[in-house]
Amino acid sequence: MPRVTLEKDKTLDNVVDAPCGECKRSTKHKVLASIDLSGREETEETLIYGWDNEYQIIQCQGCETIMFRRSHMNSEDMEHVAGPTGWDADYVTFEDYYPNPEKSRTGLSDDHLLPEKLQRIYTETLSALNGNNPVLAGIGLRAIIETVCKDQSASGKNLLAKIDNLVDQNVLTKEGAAILHKLRVLGNDSAHEVKPHSSVQLGLAFDVVEHLLQGVYILPYHAKRKFK
Ligand SMILES: [Zn+2]
Repeated sequence: MPRVTLEKDKTLDNVVDAPCGECKRSTKHKVLASIDLSGREETEETLIYGWDNEYQIIQCQGCETIMFRRSHMNSEDMEHVAGPTGWDADYVTFEDYYPNPEKSRTGLSDDHLLPEKLQRIYTETLSALNGNNPVLAGIGLRAIIETVCKDQSASGKNLLAKIDNLVDQNVLTKEGAAILHKLRVLGNDSAHEVKPHSSVQLGLAFDVVEHLLQGVYILPYHAKRKFK
């Protein structure tokens, strides 16, 4: 039987970074109340399975809006991140917020300048993000990036290598590429292996993708018209 422990207000008054739907960016939030719940299933020597959940009521220190944050980690879900000495394994944190701070995200005002097929994927991905459908939003982001890579004739043996090639072509920043590399959905070849990302990670990746779309399709159009 797993051993479950509950601790109240362990993170009271802590400050956490979280997306604010009112401020429309990540801001400092103060924890007003919290419950920490952990489960451990273990023999005397080894841990079989463990999980940690945090439930917090948090308040934006800018606009004072209050929302609910839930996070989940477990001993099975790991990801590999670039560390100072190569690849480090790290536990994945799944985060959810209520009300969803991404709900009121508005799209690019010039999205009608995108190629028709791309505009359609873009609009559907935006609505998946706003509707809190993280699996579909992740797949949509992948489809957008694949389309841009194809249009730009990006070279590379897989999508992550093609993203690096977009950096070489100066259409994507190094920082943007680093964020996209963290999206697990881009590393998996088949959609059915996709695990949901948190809305925060997806929101950040969506920002990167919007900059990419602007740089590749929208700004060149305006430049052509205004500097004839
Ligand atoms: Zn705020």
